[in-house]
Amino acid sequence: MLLCGQTNMTLIFSSMDFKYELEGVVKLFLPAQNFKITVSPTEEGHEGDICFVKREQRGVMTYLYVLCRINGTVASEAGLVLNSEKDYRSACEMTLARYLYTCLSRITGLTPQWGIITGVRPVKQINAMSAKGLSDGEIRKKLSEDFLCSTKKINVAFAVAKVQERILSELDDDSFSLYVSIPFCTSRCSYCSFVSQSVESSLSLIPQYVTNLCAEIRHTGELMTRLGKRLDTVYFGGGTPTAIDACYIEAIMQTIEESFDTSTVREYTVEAGRADTITEAKLDAIKNGGAKRISINPQTLSDCVLRAIGRKHTVEQFYDAYELARSKGFEVINTDLIAGLPTDTLESFMQTIDGIIELQPENITVHTLSIKRTSDLNQTEDKNLDMKTEQMIDYATDRLVENGYLPYYLYRQRNMLDNQENIGWSKPGRESLYNTFIMEENQTIIAVGAGGSTKLVDRKWDRLKRIFNYKLPLEYNKHFDLMLQKKKEIEEFFTLEKAREE
Ligand code: SF4
Repeated sequence: MLLCGQTNMTLIFSSMDFKYELEGVVKLFLPAQNFKITVSPTEEGHEGDICFVKREQRGVMTYLYVLCRINGTVASEAGLVLNSEKDYRSACEMTLARYLYTCLSRITGLTPQWGIITGVRPVKQINAMSAKGLSDGEIRKKLSEDFLCSTKKINVAFAVAKVQERILSELDDDSFSLYVSIPFCTSRCSYCSFVSQSVESSLSLIPQYVTNLCAEIRHTGELMTRLGKRLDTVYFGGGTPTAIDACYIEAIMQTIEESFDTSTVREYTVEAGRADTITEAKLDAIKNGGAKRISINPQTLSDCVLRAIGRKHTVEQFYDAYELARSKGFEVINTDLIAGLPTDTLESFMQTIDGIIELQPENITVHTLSIKRTSDLNQTEDKNLDMKTEQMIDYATDRLVENGYLPYYLYRQRNMLDNQENIGWSKPGRESLYNTFIMEENQTIIAVGAGGSTKLVDRKWDRLKRIFNYKLPLEYNKHFDLMLQKKKEIEEFFTLEKAREE
C-alpha cells in the first residue's frame, strides 16, 4: 500500500467541468496535498504522478476516461454515457468520480468508506432521494453501487435519517433557534482553529462584550417578537462559554429571559466545554438561567493525550465536573470525544469510549480529528498520529449501538483523518434538536455575538440566507452599531416570505 501525502500530484482535466468535485475524490486518497491543476486533452508529456480525466463527445455518446499514475503504478478506467441520458451531466460526473475512486483505490489499497460522497452532509443524499420517491431499498442500492459507500456508513446514515424524520415532522415554520456566541477560551488546544480569544490576553474585552451581547439580544428579541417568530431552542457555544465569570453568564441568561417569550423553548443548552472552567457558581447560574442541557467535553480519557494536545485539564477534573453537573440535576449531559488525537492509540481510544459509556451521559458526540489550516497542529512537523481512526470510529459505533445509543446527526469536514465523520449519539428521545436543525439547515438560527452566523431558512420557498457577525470580540465591540444594522436583513427576509404567502 502506498502511503498518502508523499506525492506531487498533477490533476489534468480535458475541461474544467466537475473540477471541484473530482479534486475532492482525489483528496480522499491523497489528503493534505496541494495539487497542480492543468487543462489538456491528453496526459502525454506529463511526468510524475498524475490523475488524468477526459470527457469527449463522440456522436451520440460521450467517452469518459480516467488514468492515474502514482510512483510508476498505473490504473485506468473507461466507458460511455449516452448524450441523451436523463441527468446527463450528473451521470458524467458520477461515472468519472467512480472511475477515479476505483483507480486510486487499486493503486493505494485504500477504500474510503463514504465512497465518492465528498459533501459535508451525507444524510442529505438520502433525504433528496427519498423526496424523489425512491424506496429505502432503492436508496441503499444507489448508495452502495453508485456512490460506493460501505454498508456500515449506509446503515449509520439511514439511522440518522430515521431519527431526524421524527424531529423534523414536529418542526413549526415560525419557530427559530437562538445561538449565543462566547468566543473566549482560557488557552488554546493544538487542534483548535476556533476564533476564540484567550481570556488572559483579552480580559479587558469581556465586560464591553457582554454589555454589547446583551444589547444585541434585546434588539433581536424585539425584532423576532415583532415578526411573530417563536423561540424554540437556545444554544450557548464558543470558544468555551464557561470561560467567562458566573456573573456574566447570569446577566446574559437574564437578558434572554427578559427579551423573548421563553415559555415556548423546548431545549436550552450551554456548552460548558472544558472541565477546568466549570465551577459550582457557574453551574448554578446556568441551571437557574433555564438551561437543561449541558456539554462537558473531555475529548479523551487519557491524561497523556490531554497533555499532548495542550488541553489544560486532567481526566480527574472532567470526572469532577461531570459529577457536579449531575448533582445539579441537568436533564441532558453531552460529552464530546475526538478520534485520532495526537499520541492517542486504538487501545486508549477504546478505553475512552468504554469509560464514557460507563458514565451513561444522555448524549455522546464522537468527532474525528480534522486538521484545520490555522491550528497549531497543522504547523507541527511530527503530528504523532496513530492513523487507526477508521478502527476507532468502527469501535465507537459498535459499542454505542450495543449500549442503546442512536446516531442523530452526522457531518463531515475537510481533512478528516481516514475520511471519517462526526456523529452525535443519543439515548432514544434525548436527541439535541438544535444540533439537528443546524446540521440539516431546516430551521432559522439567529446568532448573536462575535463569530456567530445567522441562517435564515424559508422552507416553503426553499430559500436560505446567511448573515455573518464580526468574527473577533475586538471588531465586534468596535463596530457594534454597524453590526446591529445588519439585523435589518432578517426583517427583509421574513417580510418577503410573508409577501409571497399573501
Ligand atoms: S477548549 Fe475548545 S475552544 Fe478552547 S482551545 Fe480547546 S478546542 Fe478550542
